[in-house]
Amino acid sequence: MIRYALKCKEGHGFESWFQSAAAFEGLAGRGLLSCAVCGSAEVEKALMAPKVAVQSKPPAKPLSAPANPVEARLAALRQKVERDATYVGGKFAEEARRIHDAQEETPIYGEANAQQVKGLLEDGVPIAPLPFVPKSKAN
Ligand SMILES: [Zn+2]
Repeated sequence: MIRYALKCKEGHGFESWFQSAAAFEGLAGRGLLSCAVCGSAEVEKALMAPKVAVQSKPPAKPLSAPANPVEARLAALRQKVERDATYVGGKFAEEARRIHDAQEETPIYGEANAQQVKGLLEDGVPIAPLPFVPKSKAN
């Protein structure tokens, strides 16, 4: 398909689509073109404006993708924790202390209150706050 800007003898401008340049010439040659405004058959090409099919661009990113690098890192960390560590819920302080005392390397995560966290840190138990709410709590 090709788009032509057309103009009649009255100066009305309009656009029309044609199968091809030859199709346009054929219609024009047989006087089968008419002005879209006044119906005059004296129509000529004003300016050729071929229309190139533009593929619509895909969205920049899927909607579920993290919005920024910080979110991406958090998502990665969360994935790693939830995959590699055992969720112990409210028993976190108890379990962390037990694992530390037993010198185990078992990764766990769960909830602890401020007092428990303070106690663990004072006893040298290596813990760190997670920058997200564990899945079982979030859902
Ligand atoms: Zn006209």
